[in-house]
Amino acid sequence: MNQLPECIFCQIAAGTIPATVVADDGELMAFPDIRPKAPIHLLIIPKEHVLRSIADMTDGQEALLGRMMAMAKRLAEENGIAADGYRLVFNVRQHGGQEVDHIHLHLLGGQSLGPLG
Ligand code: 5GP
Ligand code: ZN
Repeated sequence: MNQLPECIFCQIAAGTIPATVVADDGELMAFPDIRPKAPIHLLIIPKEHVLRSIADMTDGQEALLGRMMAMAKRLAEENGIAADGYRLVFNVRQHGGQEVDHIHLHLLGGQSLGPLG
């Protein structure tokens, strides 16, 4: 496994930091955000530390991002929020508010989220 010992999400993927795993397909996993900003707030991550952010994406990593979005779509359906809708967010680097430098997709829903900001 390509994992960084000091990375919070690598530690969650390894089981060192506990999280309620709601999906795990071998490559990707999902778990609730510890500080939820909506009734449903899940984080979808690759289990390996393969990419820090969208800004660090290299050729050949596009499909990984597609699979992350496909898992988000499936989780939205499983959580009953697909019909009303939801928000998917990638925070990117400092100005984007990214705190954890292990790529992750936020899935937020369960209420009307209104405009951004
Ligand atoms: P970012 O701001 O980097 O896009 O999002 C990182 C997210 O990870 C934040 O929303 C934060 O609440 C969440 N987070 C940070 N540490 C932990 C943790 O130990 N467990 C879980 N489940 N979420 C965490
Ligand atoms: Zn990591």
